[in-house]
Amino acid sequence: MTDDATLVSSPFAAGIVWSGSGVEGSAAVVPRRHVMSMFELTDAELKDLASVTRATVRVIEERYAARGMSISWDAGVSAGQREPHLVIHVVPRKMQSDDER
Ligand SMILES: [Zn+2]
Repeated sequence: MTDDATLVSSPFAAGIVWSGSGVEGSAAVVPRRHVMSMFELTDAELKDLASVTRATVRVIEERYAARGMSISWDAGVSAGQREPHLVIHVVPRKMQSDDER
């Protein structure tokens, strides 16, 4: 079940289009349950989140011919977390210059 903004969907999480990086093809993987951090997840949720992240990466690789992928999350405001919710950022990389963004 997907729409224009949803790339991958599971009962626990979704991979959605994310424009915050400024790089075309970027996505955010978010759990449906409210958690601030990866460390609040159960083992089953963590496994599902990893599967959704992997599937999201595959969609992006295919659609945008990415040669590499930056995958990250910020745990805590002190680490730069901007959203009050766990978000895994997935940014496709094609050229060396992209890495400087
Ligand atoms: Zn939340």
